[in-house]
Amino acid sequence: MADSIEGRVRTGVDAFLRWLPRWEVGTSRARTRVCRLCLGSPVATAAGFDHDVPHAVQHALLSRMRQIVDEAVDEYTARNLPMVARELSKGEAQEPTGYRPEQGLPPEFQGLPLDPEPDPEQPFLFTLEELATEDQREAQARAGAPDPEPTVFTEEAKKALSTELELADDHARQVGTAVCLALVEHRQRIADAIDRLVEPQIDELLAELSKALENPRSR
Ligand SMILES: [Zn+2]
Repeated sequence: MADSIEGRVRTGVDAFLRWLPRWEVGTSRARTRVCRLCLGSPVATAAGFDHDVPHAVQHALLSRMRQIVDEAVDEYTARNLPMVARELSKGEAQEPTGYRPEQGLPPEFQGLPLDPEPDPEQPFLFTLEELATEDQREAQARAGAPDPEPTVFTEEAKKALSTELELADDHARQVGTAVCLALVEHRQRIADAIDRLVEPQIDELLAELSKALENPRSR
């Protein structure tokens, strides 16, 4: 497993480094919602990110690493955990159809809020989230979709399923650790790219801000 994870992490870091030159420092207000992917992530530590690295940059790499873990766990589940695999495929069949703005995004943007934070001075006519909910409601109404019958499990089946779920969890932890170990090998490349592409932009922004603060009237 470790070999294939190492290869995938290398490919993921390569893709992240190809994307990084397109990143531009934003002047928008800081987000107020915490990101469940990035907050306290051991992957961020493994990558050598500190608090000065902007969230969008961290998120882009962490999202790619998350994909590696998800794919590895999916493969393991399909191969070794028939009950979990069956439940997952049922779940997928029940996913609402319709407009899904969060799907098909490049990994850099997955898991980020779809809409910017609302600004009372500039209200939106609509938000992507609203559009998606409307669309799903309509699709469900058209299909007259009754809620699917929940599966009834015997005690024995319940035990078997929970054993499989534990195995899936264990595997996810192992893959997560392997990803972190593999990522440490790329720390220097990542740090060099951040120094070259991210820090100058932040320094420039800070310089502009302090200039604006010193001469408030010149603007
Ligand atoms: Zn994030």
